[in-house]
Amino acid sequence: MLAEWDKLAREAADRDEPYDAYLLRLTELEVAARSANAVAARIRAAGFPVLKDFDTFDFTAAPNLPKQKVLELARGDWLEQHSNCCLIGGSGTGKTHVATAVGLALCRLGKRVKFVTAAGLVTQLEAAQQQHCLDRLLTTLERFDPLIVDELGYLSFSRAGAELLFQVFADRYERRSLLITSNLPFGEWGQVFQGERMTAALLDRLTHKCHIFEMNGESYRFRESMKTKKDKDAKKAK
Ligand code: ADP
Ligand code: MG
Repeated sequence: MLAEWDKLAREAADRDEPYDAYLLRLTELEVAARSANAVAARIRAAGFPVLKDFDTFDFTAAPNLPKQKVLELARGDWLEQHSNCCLIGGSGTGKTHVATAVGLALCRLGKRVKFVTAAGLVTQLEAAQQQHCLDRLLTTLERFDPLIVDELGYLSFSRAGAELLFQVFADRYERRSLLITSNLPFGEWGQVFQGERMTAALLDRLTHKCHIFEMNGESYRFRESMKTKKDKDAKKAK
């Protein structure tokens, strides 16, 4: 309001606008600026590795991915139902891109999103346990909805690490949502969680209400690098 009041006042005077119209315009501007600031703060707090949105995602390059269903995730109804979402597929198939785009959309809707990698989360949990502040970290994590956990399956954890991750996932059951990306099909999650029983218990909770997207197909990274290589070769041939 401080930044805009005199400019708007001059405009209002020029247009012979009444005072209430001027005041309305000024407060509208303040409200818009505040909500834009709040969105920016939520996006910062979410901790996305890179800001990738749907406008740069080419759905035709991921023909197995149901576009409408993915865009529905961005509208956030699944959070109200405390459902989860899993994006499963090989490296370079766009899992992190889609998870980030969904997260960004939810930030814009006012949701408190947190983006972590599975390995990063386990490191944080183990450090907190060592420093006797695990409860505090768990309370902080609980406030986020959804918690996006990227790259489950690239690294396997110690038994203690797997148990901590299990605790975070199990705590959220039917109360908060998780969005998980993994290169491993569910049948191979035993490698991450060590032990059939813990894996079965986890998958049971996670998939009870879950939107599952299989993102298999060719790696987008690989395809792009092949395209660049082909273009270069073609140039050379000329
Ligand atoms: P993953 O997490 O599955 O390994 P990423 O989401 O990191 O894959 O995708 C790898 C790279 O390719 C990123 O730069 C991403 O933006 C891009 N990418 C992947 N799929 C698509 C797509 N369908 N349209 C546009 N870019 C894509
Ligand atoms: Mg990724």
